[in-house]
Amino acid sequence: MSFRKLGLTEELARAVEKLGFETPTPIQAEAIPSILEGRDVVGTAQTGTGKTAAFVLPLLQRLGQPGGKVRALILTPTRELAQQVESSLQELGRFAKLRSCTIFGGVSQRGQEDALRRGVDIVVATPGRLLDLLEQKVVSLSSIEMLVLDEADRMMDMGFLPDVRRIVRLVPAQRQTLLFSATLPPEIRELTRTLQRDPKFVEVGGSGTPVVGVEQRLFPVPPHLKCDLLLHLLGRETMRPLLVFTRTKHGADRLHRVLEKQRHKVARIHSGRSQGQRQEALEGFRRNHYQILIATDIAARGIDVRNISHVINYDIPNNADDYIHRIGRTARATATGLAYSFITPDEEDQVRSIERSLRRKLNRIRLEDFAYDAPPQPKTGSRSESNPLMERRAFRAAPAGPVRVFDRFAHSGNSRRPAAGAGQRSRPGFGAAKPRSGRGDRQEFRGKSNSWSEGSMGAPSSEEQAELKRLQRKLFGSGRTRHRHVLS
Ligand code: AMP
Repeated sequence: MSFRKLGLTEELARAVEKLGFETPTPIQAEAIPSILEGRDVVGTAQTGTGKTAAFVLPLLQRLGQPGGKVRALILTPTRELAQQVESSLQELGRFAKLRSCTIFGGVSQRGQEDALRRGVDIVVATPGRLLDLLEQKVVSLSSIEMLVLDEADRMMDMGFLPDVRRIVRLVPAQRQTLLFSATLPPEIRELTRTLQRDPKFVEVGGSGTPVVGVEQRLFPVPPHLKCDLLLHLLGRETMRPLLVFTRTKHGADRLHRVLEKQRHKVARIHSGRSQGQRQEALEGFRRNHYQILIATDIAARGIDVRNISHVINYDIPNNADDYIHRIGRTARATATGLAYSFITPDEEDQVRSIERSLRRKLNRIRLEDFAYDAPPQPKTGSRSESNPLMERRAFRAAPAGPVRVFDRFAHSGNSRRPAAGAGQRSRPGFGAAKPRSGRGDRQEFRGKSNSWSEGSMGAPSSEEQAELKRLQRKLFGSGRTRHRHVLS
């Protein structure tokens, strides 16, 4: 099967060839002909299966010639994904004359306004900043012919559905609507009923299942030894490029400091970093300037880097959807990859829930040459220092010091109370993370599943731990409901 056989124009087929795509992926083969016919489509596909090209190619073809008005709107949950879609539009539309721009928060509005004034055919936007520009009448959606909701389940998780509905009310009813989602929870099914007309459902490989080429392994480890385990693995295996997921931005910062001190080429992206810093990190990772990228879930959403060899869940995610999205960052399209997850005794519930969703038990690995019985590390005086090797030395020198909490869940298996000294710092963001300014930042703070962690700092207090447990119960309660469709 070739791209030409799907009914694509010569110029699009040439652009595809230039990217080195030889045959359409299953989601492309299924979705492209229906979209070209003008049908509404609901696409459920595993992450990394080529879904972006599945809607970008027919969208470019249906729009045809430039018209000087915004005729297609692509909504994405994150800035990174918006940029990723925009670069696919540029690459696949290299022989077309259509113009596109991105609209997202966290950067100045000026450049986006200028691009809109010059005239674009396609807008790729996150909901918050788009609503701002709509309110200011900088952009009009009255000429939209095609509407795409990308990663709709993630938009829902991030609390964007009311914004999406507000935006859709400003789009003409006479339009073609495409919706892509890794999973189809009831809320998304309801959305398709209200936004689409007789959509064609295209499901590839079953929703909620990880990419085929990923080999998954679990590494049980005491909480205080997670960092040592990571350093140990880095010493015994070639992991290039490596993507590491932490639950919180502060966890990402701490790990970054440790790895930098160990002279690893490492970058990080999370909601506390500016757009410029995130771009620099991603670009550097793409160009192999950084060997390791540390990321939190929200920031990692749009990462599309070829040939990631390993994904490490330094902290296990809260639900199976996030797990699948995370490990889908490796084995993109046709490659293979390894996904390691560090699991502490406290995280067994999450692991069981993930295994239930995957409908299989994952391999548990115990390394012969790793000291699983090493004691927790002592406090060294400076909480900002997180180099476990340095701390091990300090421990030998002063073994009687109070226990130092390094990981977010350190000691929570033994006691619900934080270790001595922990919890005495102020934690300005916990449980009430505040947007810095404007709507553009909102997306980072709304997450039903992430807002608590993105805004938290340091080791958890007992209050925080109770809140964390409550949220986990809530998430896993709803998680079970949400995954029922996957199992049925
Ligand atoms: P996506 O699922 O859209 O994020 O795409 C995942 C990766 O697959 C991206 O790096 C694409 O460039 C790549 N890709 C998309 N379609 C194809 C194809 N037909 N053959 C090979 N790679 C592809």
